[in-house]
Amino acid sequence: MDLSRRDLLKAVGGAGLAMTALGLDAKEVKAATADFRIKGAQEYTSICTFCSCGCSMLCHVKDGKLINLEGDPDHIINEGALCSKGASMGVIPNSDQRVKTPLYRAPGSKKWQPITWDEALDKVAAKIKQTRDDNWIATEKDGDKEYRVNRTDAISFLGGAQNHNEECYLMTKMSRMIGTDFVEHQARV
Ligand code: SF4
Repeated sequence: MDLSRRDLLKAVGGAGLAMTALGLDAKEVKAATADFRIKGAQEYTSICTFCSCGCSMLCHVKDGKLINLEGDPDHIINEGALCSKGASMGVIPNSDQRVKTPLYRAPGSKKWQPITWDEALDKVAAKIKQTRDDNWIATEKDGDKEYRVNRTDAISFLGGAQNHNEECYLMTKMSRMIGTDFVEHQARV
């Protein structure tokens, strides 16, 4: 028998309606159907990475694949809702176009090559150190007086909606330690 996806959905919808007609609670029918879909899956919560609202998501993972994503009804910000951007995020984790390792393009090269996280961190740390050393401002004059300022204007930090409170705290601490005032958030850019 040939059964299209639309036919199948109609049949399932019909069964749901029939069950509610028999006096079963619609919410219970829906919950039972959802349970079939995510049976045996591990449940995680996550935060949408697309904007600064910070909507929470319930994610179900089975055999290493995300099989379901929906708004988290227990979260104070979105109470189970997701906008169309957030709802579409489910395609990202399973995409074969997802970049999973840092990529490096050497000076003058046209090719990006995968490198390990350790190599990437070493490169970033060396660049930060070099930039800071080359652009360090130890003192500044105001009229006749010279003040110690100990800062660099050559480095800035850009956070994003996916950074949680603790990461933002650490990022701010690190920016002050490095000596820059420039800390911004992607949602304001
Ligand atoms: S679901 Fe929509 S509103 Fe919520 S954080 Fe994601 S993009 Fe922003």
